[in-house]
Amino acid sequence: MQNKMKAYRLLDWQTKPKIVETEIPEPERGEVLIKVAGNGLCHSDISMQQMPKEMVEPIGWKVPFTLGHEIGGWIEELGEGVTGFKAGDPVVLVSSYFCGNCEYCLKGQTNNCENAAAGRGYGMNGGLAEYVLVDKPQQIIKLDKLDPATAGPLTDAGSTSYHPSSVYCPN
Ligand SMILES: [Zn+2]
Ligand SMILES: [Zn+2]
Repeated sequence: MQNKMKAYRLLDWQTKPKIVETEIPEPERGEVLIKVAGNGLCHSDISMQQMPKEMVEPIGWKVPFTLGHEIGGWIEELGEGVTGFKAGDPVVLVSSYFCGNCEYCLKGQTNNCENAAAGRGYGMNGGLAEYVLVDKPQQIIKLDKLDPATAGPLTDAGSTSYHPSSVYCPN
């Protein structure tokens, strides 16, 4: 496999993103490399270009990062210790990043994760690239009949219909 890929990246705050060449990430233990089939575009991809450093650096965003948070693709390579997938499996990636360890994640309410201000495509490397790295395989959803080239928006625009803030009810 070649070791460079094209990616659409925000190189600095309040600048226009650019298509640049960057390294294809290598999955380390517990990580998974995805070959991107398609990535939906979201209005927030535009607002991210305008966000001031003072607003987003304190919540953990770092430049440069690759945009794109509505990601579909195929399993390319599994890091050591990852099971349940094989190369070529069609998948989508959960759009709302979650840590898997906080009080809410442990209750299964990953949509309320306390450590999710940065995620793939918003402060971390996302899917507007040939490949994207997933550091939490529990954020990978295997597809049955859907085409990964077009299923990505279901993870963001599609799941918005479920209204995250109403899912958690303390009563
Ligand atoms: Zn979005
Ligand atoms: Zn969490």
